[in-house]
Amino acid sequence: ASAHLGRLAAAVLAQVRDVVVEHEEELGRLDAIAGDGDHGIGMRRGVDAAAAAAEAMAAAGSSVARVLTAAGEAWSERAGGTSGALWGSAVIAAGLALGNRASYRGEDAADAVTAFTAAITELGKAGPGDKTMVDALLPFRDAFLRNLDGGTQVAKSLAAAAVAAQEAAEKTSELRPLKGRARPLAEKSLGHPDPGAISFGLIAQRISTYIDS
Ligand code: ADP
Ligand code: MG
Ligand code: MG
Repeated sequence: ASAHLGRLAAAVLAQVRDVVVEHEEELGRLDAIAGDGDHGIGMRRGVDAAAAAAEAMAAAGSSVARVLTAAGEAWSERAGGTSGALWGSAVIAAGLALGNRASYRGEDAADAVTAFTAAITELGKAGPGDKTMVDALLPFRDAFLRNLDGGTQVAKSLAAAAVAAQEAAEKTSELRPLKGRARPLAEKSLGHPDPGAISFGLIAQRISTYIDS
C-alpha cells in the first residue's frame, strides 16, 4: 500500500511539472510586472528536479514520505528564489506528515494539507493580505478541511479547495504586496494578481483534475 501511494505522489508531481511548463511564460510575465520576472523559470527548474527525484524514488518502491522528501529537497535546491524554498519545504512537510503507513484515510490528507500550509507560513512569515501565495493557500486549506469535516470525500474536497484557491488567487489583484521582492514596486502590482498565488491555484486545479479522473 505504501509503495502505491509513493507512485501516486510521483504521478501527481509529474502533473505539477506539466502545468508549470504550460504556464511558464505567463508566470514569468506576471512576475515581471512588479518582481524580477523569474517565477516561471524558477518554478520550472524546481518542479523539473522534484518530479525527476520523485520518479526515481517511486521506481525504487519508496514510501510516499521518501518520495515527497526527496522531491522537496530537489525542488528547494534547484529552484533558487523564494518560491522554490517555500514549495520545497512544504512538499517535505507534507511527506513527513504522511509518513510510511500501511493504509491512508481522509484525515491523513487533512494532516498533509495542514503541514504543507504551516511550512509555508512558518518559513515565509506572510499572512493574509500580504499579496503572496499564502492568499491562495489559506482559502485552499480552509475549504479542503471544511469539506472533509462535513463528510465530503477527498477528491471532491480537493475540487472545492482548488476552486477556492483559484478565486482567491485572482482576487490578489486588489492587493498591494507587503512581502517579497514585489514590495518596492507595490503600485505597479495593483490590478495584477500575485504570481505565486496564481501558480498555486493552477497547480491545485491540475492536481484536483488528475485525482478526480
Ligand atoms: P523571487 O521572489 O525570489 O524571485 P519567485 O519569483 O519564484 O521568487 O516567487 C515569487 C512569489 O513568491 C511571490 O509571487 C509570492 O507569491 C511568493 N512569496 C514571496 N515572499 C513570500 C513569503 N514571505 N511568504 C510566502 N510567499 C512568498
Ligand atoms: Mg521572482
Ligand atoms: Mg528571483
